[in-house]
Amino acid sequence: MPVTILIVEDELAIADSIAYALRTDGFVPRHVSLGAQALQAMRESDPATLPALVVLDVGLPDMNGFEVCRQLRQFCNAPVIFLTARSDEIDRIVGLEIGADDYVTKPFSPRELVARIRVVLRRLAPPGAATAAFSVPAARFEIREAEARILYRAQALELTRYEYLLLKALCERPGHVLSRAQLMDRVWADAPDTLDRTVDAHVRSLRAKLRLVDPADDPIQTHRGMGYSLAGT
Ligand code: CA
Repeated sequence: MPVTILIVEDELAIADSIAYALRTDGFVPRHVSLGAQALQAMRESDPATLPALVVLDVGLPDMNGFEVCRQLRQFCNAPVIFLTARSDEIDRIVGLEIGADDYVTKPFSPRELVARIRVVLRRLAPPGAATAAFSVPAARFEIREAEARILYRAQALELTRYEYLLLKALCERPGHVLSRAQLMDRVWADAPDTLDRTVDAHVRSLRAKLRLVDPADDPIQTHRGMGYSLAGT
């Protein structure tokens, strides 16, 4: 079945180049120029044509992409990849709880964007395989790889893609200190230009989400000048 991707971008030249790359790769692009149209498209589409993923420009004429994403998250779990032109926007994307799955910085290659789209969709696809669940008893995490989901104290966490990968990396080696470079290798393997502060920003947002579940617990430990670890025992 063809997979529809919604492009929310007011610059027609950019939207066209994304649509072309998507079509070349077998996707069905759908384009709107306004945030309100994007929300409407995600609300009204019938399930057969409902976009599987949203490519969302931050700078839109009617409302910014962050607000679109916030409203979208109230009724829809479709992954969102932001298009951003400024580094201060990247800080907001990685540091805040706006539910983005990835971002690309303008100017970008449409081919690279389509590759990112594939990675995100593959991660979220229900493979029908057995759930490779294992738990870290001390911190009460359960990783459900097939669902790309992590439960903390039996509560499912709403994580962005990188938060999920980051927490998974820490959970897989409880008690081991992972340096920022190691985390970048494991978590941001597809984003070689990742910065230390990106890792730190994701740890911050992850901690905030864990705190919502259990304010008394802080299972991620900071090792100054070394990196991070998940509390062992
Ligand atoms: Ca724009």
